[in-house]
Amino acid sequence: MNHKIELEKALRKLKDIELALNESSIVAITDNRGIIQFANDKFCNMSKYSRNELIGSRQNIVNSGHHSQDFFKEMWRTIGRGKVWKGEIKNKAKDGTYYWVDTTIVPFLKENGRPYQYISIRHDITKRIEYEETIKQMAYYDPLTLLPNRNLLNEWLNEYVNKEGKLAVLFLDIDRFKSINDNYGHRTGDMILKELAKRLQTCIRTSDLIVRQGGDEFVIFLTDVDNKDDILKVVQRIKKQFNVPFTVNGNKIIATTSIGISLEKMSQYESDYLDLVEEMIRQADTAMYHAKQNGGNSHCFISDDQNDELRRYYQLEQEIKHALEEDEFSIVYQPLINLRNDKITGVEALLRWNNEKLGSVSPGEFIPLLEELGLIIPVGNWVLQSVCDQMVSWHKKGFSIDRVAVNVSPIQFVNQSFVHDVKEIIRETKMDPVWLELEITEGTILNIDKVEKTLKELRDLGVHISIDDFGTGYSSLNYLKRLPINTLKIDQSFIRDLDVNDEVIVNTIITMAKNLQFNIIAEGIETDYQLSYLKDQDCHEGQGYYFSKPIDARELEQAYKCTSLKPNAI
Ligand code: C2E
Ligand code: MG
Ligand code: MG
Repeated sequence: MNHKIELEKALRKLKDIELALNESSIVAITDNRGIIQFANDKFCNMSKYSRNELIGSRQNIVNSGHHSQDFFKEMWRTIGRGKVWKGEIKNKAKDGTYYWVDTTIVPFLKENGRPYQYISIRHDITKRIEYEETIKQMAYYDPLTLLPNRNLLNEWLNEYVNKEGKLAVLFLDIDRFKSINDNYGHRTGDMILKELAKRLQTCIRTSDLIVRQGGDEFVIFLTDVDNKDDILKVVQRIKKQFNVPFTVNGNKIIATTSIGISLEKMSQYESDYLDLVEEMIRQADTAMYHAKQNGGNSHCFISDDQNDELRRYYQLEQEIKHALEEDEFSIVYQPLINLRNDKITGVEALLRWNNEKLGSVSPGEFIPLLEELGLIIPVGNWVLQSVCDQMVSWHKKGFSIDRVAVNVSPIQFVNQSFVHDVKEIIRETKMDPVWLELEITEGTILNIDKVEKTLKELRDLGVHISIDDFGTGYSSLNYLKRLPINTLKIDQSFIRDLDVNDEVIVNTIITMAKNLQFNIIAEGIETDYQLSYLKDQDCHEGQGYYFSKPIDARELEQAYKCTSLKPNAI
C-alpha cells in the first residue's frame, strides 16, 4: 500500500480520535516497523526534537534505557497481534532529560488482520511519577545518606534474600562520633555520614544491603555467606575505607569503627526469619559493644554460646506458638503434706511441655517465653480450666483433695480480664472456689495499689492466695499485713542447704507468718534432716521430692488410694 494513502487514512482517523483527546496528548503515528510518520507539536515539545528529526526516525529515538528488553518485547507482541497496548514509559528527550508518559498504542489493521500502522497517544505523567518517587524515597530511604531505612529492609528480606543461604549481619558504629560532632559541629558529622554511606556501598555486592539504623549506626546485611572468612573480607574492605581520612571543609578527619557481627542460616527458621533478623541485629549490636569495650577500631563476632542460645530460643519460639493447639501441654501434681500428721492437704499443679522435636522442656525455660510472647494468658487459662476440671472429677470420684495450688504469672495477674477469667472458669467447671489457691510471686505484689483490688476481688470469690518463692523477692511487711494473703511458701533455696544462715531466715519467716496468721509451706524438702528441722520449727506444711515428685493425675489417684501418701511412699 502506498505510504501517502496510508498516512492520509491515518490522519483522517486521527482527526476523529483527536476530538476525544485533550490538547495535552502527545501523538505519533509509526509504520509497522516503528518508523515515525507523524508527530504532533506536543511530541516535539516533550522530546525536544524538531518534527524533521522525528519523522523518519525510529520510535526508539526517545528510549531512555530504563525498561528491560522484555518490556518492549511484550509491547510489540501485543500490538503485533493487533491488540491495544497500554503502559507507562520513561522516555529520554534530546537534551538528555527524562519524562514519563502514560501510553496507549492502537494498531491499524489491514484486511488480513495484520497491523500496518500504529498510533500512539501519550500523556505526560512525569509530575505524578516524581511525586510517587519522592513518597517512596521518603518512606524507604534515609534522607541524609539516601541509604535504605528499616521499611525497605523488611521488603528486601521478604523478596530478595535467598532463604536457603546464610545471612550475616554487621552492626557498624563510628567510634567517638560524638566528639567529632562536638569538635567540628553537626553539619560536619552529617557530611561524614554521607561520605561513609557512599564508601560502604563500595564494600558490598549488589545482593547485599546497607541500612542506616540511626545516628552513626549502620547495619549491613550480607547474603549467601559461606563462612566467617567471607565476612572478614568485607570487614577488611570497610576498615580500608576508614584508613582514608574524611575531608570536610578542608578538615581531614580520621575516624575508626567498631563492628559487631552475627551469622545465621536462614532456612531453619522458615516463616519466622523476620523476627530472627531482628534478633540477629540485636546480637550484632551487643557484639559491637564488646568490640567497643576492647577499645574500638575492631570487630567482634557474637560468641558461639550466644549463637547457640539464639538458635535454641528461635526453635522454642517457633514450637511453642502451636503447643496449645497441638495439645502438647500437660499438668502434673505435687502433694502438699501436713507436717503434723503427714497427710496430704493439697497439691500444686505444675505445667509440663512435651514437644516432638524438643522433647520435654523445663518450665524455667518455657514459662518466660510464654510470658514474652503473651501466650501465658491463654495457656494460664487452659491450666486453670484443666485443674478445675480435674478437681471436680476427683471430688466426684471421692478423692477429696481439699486444695489445688495454681501458679499465676505476674503478666496474667495484672491482665485486666484476670478476675473475670477466674470467675468464668469456676462457674463453667462448677469448681468450689475454696479449693483453689492461686500462687503469685512477691514481684507481682510490689505495686501494692494496683494489685490490692484484684486480690480483694479474688478473696470475695472465695479463692485463696499464696505467695510463692517467698524470701527471694522484695518482701515488705506492709503488704503482708495489708493484703488478703493466706499462705507463704518458703523458697526452696533456703531449704536446700539449710546452713546456719538459712536456719535464721527460715525461723524468722515461720515466726512472722504465724504471727500474721498465715499458713506456711516449706518447698523443696528432700532429706530427713530438712524435714525434722522444719517439724521442730512447727512449719505447717511441706512439699518436696522427699514426699513425692510432681506426678500425673492418674499416678496421684493411685498413690492416694493405696497409701494415703505417707512419706517416701512414692
Ligand atoms: P514453683 O511454683 O516454685 O514450683 C516448685 C518447683 O520446684 C517445681 O519445679 C517442682 O518440680 C520443684 N520441686 C519440688 N520439690 C522439689 C525438691 O524437693 N527439690 C527440687 N530441686 N525441686 C523441687 P518445676 O515444675 O520445674 O516448675 C518451676 C517453676 O515454673 C515453678 O516454680 C513455677 O514458678 C513455674 N510454673 C510451673 N507451672 C506453672 C504454671 O502453670 N504457670 C505459671 N505461671 N508458672 C508455672
Ligand atoms: Mg509454685
Ligand atoms: Mg516456689
